[in-house]
Amino acid sequence: MLRLQTPLPERYRDASPEALDEMIGAAKATLGERLFILGHHYQRDEVMKWADARGDSYRLSVLAQERPDAEYIVFCGVHFMAESADVLTGDHQAVVLPDLNAGCSMADMADLDEVTEAWESLGDVIDTGELIPITYMNSSAALKAFVGQHGGAVCTSTNAREILDWAFTQGRKVLFFPDQHLGRNTGIAMGYTHDDMRVWNPRFELGGLTPEEVQASTFLLWKGHCSVHQRFSPAHVDAFRAQHPDGIVIAHPECSHEVCSVADQVGSTDFIIKAVAAAPAGSTIAIATEIHLVNRLRDETPDKTIISLDPLICPCSTMFRIDGPHLAWVLENLVEGRVINQITVDPETTEWAKVALQRMLDITQGNPVEAVRDPATDSRALPV
Ligand code: SF4
Repeated sequence: MLRLQTPLPERYRDASPEALDEMIGAAKATLGERLFILGHHYQRDEVMKWADARGDSYRLSVLAQERPDAEYIVFCGVHFMAESADVLTGDHQAVVLPDLNAGCSMADMADLDEVTEAWESLGDVIDTGELIPITYMNSSAALKAFVGQHGGAVCTSTNAREILDWAFTQGRKVLFFPDQHLGRNTGIAMGYTHDDMRVWNPRFELGGLTPEEVQASTFLLWKGHCSVHQRFSPAHVDAFRAQHPDGIVIAHPECSHEVCSVADQVGSTDFIIKAVAAAPAGSTIAIATEIHLVNRLRDETPDKTIISLDPLICPCSTMFRIDGPHLAWVLENLVEGRVINQITVDPETTEWAKVALQRMLDITQGNPVEAVRDPATDSRALPV
């Protein structure tokens, strides 16, 4: 979804990297503790070097929540992340997204109208009292609120398995959105089969399914995907293994099941970072995730060879919109007392989105599950 971003003033558009660094550094020094800059793992280095905290979307929102003294939270990430930070932070705090066009193509694949319509259609063929909606963190605040109102929970790629385990104590079926791959990979790692799953295509009546297919399925997986992670293919794994027979393949669970089923390890960005750290020195590791994280791991892990599983670069093009000029622009305006590009979630949506996020916290508190499939350590992992 394209949001309306006003054009960047010339002062920032034409500035050299050195001049931008000066502007950002000076604004940051002036704002001091009033400012907290968050940098998602997929951000480019010119932005990341100014971040007060790095992490995945959920961790960054929680870190923002833990800084009630910070008046301004500048989220170098994408739109749904800034919304989550606004949901979790106080009314006295302003969350700023440096470029409003930094969206997430996956999050935009499911909107509130489509999900509400799907829920109503499903109610014609099954008892929705037995259907638990689960939304991935990568979704709008409106969808998190829908899930909160309908007895479901949010999940992350770190805890999807645990959240789904919980869902099946609450009902008999799950409607999982917006990423079909995370839902499928997690369900299969839990012991379900492809026959237990159906893809819900919001473009068709009843998701393109027959009433019997809906009734027979355990997982209804929304037809959504991440364009970055869907690029990886089993052919990339074959090509890497032909060159590096002892190499390790680590895939993010937003990749297709065909890739995850042949990877050595599958897990969230946090899991990938830890898996790289835990690999023996001298290892060659191919990673199937966004290129900025892969390159940063390569630079920060000189005793191992780290490469992208796809030799063609695959950046997240929406996240890439956040750059030095936009960061300098919003920070200098904050110094002048002008809050531009503030992301605000309305109070009712905030209340219900918090319910869904809190359920996730209650379910996972003190019991983290990190790998979707790590054959080395996970006895429940399915043979592939
Ligand atoms: S990498 Fe994929 S899921 Fe993540 S923000 Fe970009 S488009 Fe969205």
